[in-house]
Amino acid sequence: MNRWRDLHTGEVRPEHVGQDLTVAGWVARRRDHGGLIFIDLRDHTGIVQLVVNPERAPEPALIARDIRAEFVVRAQGEVVRRAPDAVNPNIPTGEVEVQVNELEIVSRSEPLPFQIDDENVEEPVRLRYRYLDLRRDRMQHNLRLSATVIGAIRRSMEEQGFIDVWTPSMTLGTPEGARDFLIPMRLQPGRFYALAQSPQLFKQLFMVGGLDRYYQIATAWRDEDLRADRQFEFRQLDLELAFPTREQVLDVLEQVVVASFEALGRTPPSRPFPRMAYADALLRFGSDKPDLRFGLEIQDATELTRDSQFGVFANAATVRYLVVPKAFSRGELQKLEDFAKEWGAKGLAYLVYDEDGADVRSPIAKFLSEQELEAFRSADPGSTVLFVADNTPMAERVLGALRLHLGQELGLVDESRDEFHWVLDFPLFLKDEDSGRWTFVHHPFTSPAPGHEHLIETDPGAALSQHYDLIWNGWELGSGSIRIHRQEIQERVFRAMGMSDEEARAKFGWFLDALRMGAPPHGGFALGIERFVALMAGESNIREVIAFPKTASGSDPLTGAPAPTTKERLDELGISVKTPKA
Ligand code: ASP
Repeated sequence: MNRWRDLHTGEVRPEHVGQDLTVAGWVARRRDHGGLIFIDLRDHTGIVQLVVNPERAPEPALIARDIRAEFVVRAQGEVVRRAPDAVNPNIPTGEVEVQVNELEIVSRSEPLPFQIDDENVEEPVRLRYRYLDLRRDRMQHNLRLSATVIGAIRRSMEEQGFIDVWTPSMTLGTPEGARDFLIPMRLQPGRFYALAQSPQLFKQLFMVGGLDRYYQIATAWRDEDLRADRQFEFRQLDLELAFPTREQVLDVLEQVVVASFEALGRTPPSRPFPRMAYADALLRFGSDKPDLRFGLEIQDATELTRDSQFGVFANAATVRYLVVPKAFSRGELQKLEDFAKEWGAKGLAYLVYDEDGADVRSPIAKFLSEQELEAFRSADPGSTVLFVADNTPMAERVLGALRLHLGQELGLVDESRDEFHWVLDFPLFLKDEDSGRWTFVHHPFTSPAPGHEHLIETDPGAALSQHYDLIWNGWELGSGSIRIHRQEIQERVFRAMGMSDEEARAKFGWFLDALRMGAPPHGGFALGIERFVALMAGESNIREVIAFPKTASGSDPLTGAPAPTTKERLDELGISVKTPKA
């Protein structure tokens, strides 16, 4: 290739035997063996073994004595076969080694804060020295996989006729349900840009502008509490198309998913992905992003227990239950009840059917009628029926959490399965518990379901929307919708959310104007790139596929950001800081 190397270290093979080659990389290990010095030289392609023989190469031998782990080294020498007992079948270069004639220390390294091959380094240390962490196989693999997936996504989008158009990051706040990061303006003190929570309104304007099919790998910024699947900044495959049907939008995404699997040489999920209504997802799985890699479906006993002698059942708005394939002990049931209470349940009633087929074990059995008991008795011996009686959202929430918990705990989740599916038919509005007002489910630009427009005023809670979510193994990969393209409907939706016409005009007048000037029907989607890539890589935290992520507490251990600024900068921006310095 050049003066530094002819090949990558991991590319040396028996076919190179007899050739003089130059390689360069990092020293993974150096061992002295009765005069011979062995060096494992590494780059992203793998390791090759160098041998320095002091008799054949006295000068390189002197240099080799000086070499330590993670030095950057260039070596030139002849590729030879290893002696049969020295062959290492575990690495692709294991049949050969390089007999060094020339050795150069290109760059030295201090002793590192951790060994590159140590799997147990704490995350803050890994992130503080991310450039060292990146030398590990795991990060190399994940970042390269990410690049392959993004390449496949772009190709698929372009094949499907989408064009890549950039949208501003500095904009007016976009309502995606999170807080905006504000950018103070030096030129107009007291005024702020917001970092875009998504390109939402701009992509809708692209449709008004006749671009027809837009996409972008867009960065989005959201000021939210961080979790395993959340960062302040992340990327989305953001897309929008004009004159679509819902099915067409879903199909675009399915093609992208399939193309990504194929790019990695994996068997893609079969299309079309299954679809499930939101109401059904909540009823059966207690979640709008159910993990379908296992059953353990929630069942409803509200009707059955309406006249129950057990008052807790009779009086609850909703009674739902799970039949778990295990007869729990008292101690285990106590733990499960604690778990349920952490999620907000008042209690957890149960019926245990022991393996030996003896009578049901339960403090509530004596209150239940023959008919009730009969309905639950279908449970096999060695099982437990767990009940939550509460208002509907609480019963869903608690049983949904219990289902996931037990699925993991009892090893019911089939990790080898990939379950993609769509959740459809979301409600248009949800009640905001704090304000008691109707609020949007995802963002306020989602269209009501056809024929549900009149419900905006008459029965907002009953109106369904044309929103859809893509779920993979219980992770929400992304969301989208068919949008409102008529100004009058958009205004009615704002009104239903308690926004006065003046307020709507002040905030979104610029957008409402566009809807009055020939807006075609349109719809789109945004797929979270890091979530998608993390799942592709088999990681359970998106930080493992991001080169320089923030920690869970929202800081960057590498640079020390966020950091205070100077008084001069603050004065220039017209800002005074109230928070006392830590
Ligand atoms: N803007 C939405 C989001 O960022 C996606 C969409 O509706 O297209 O989640």
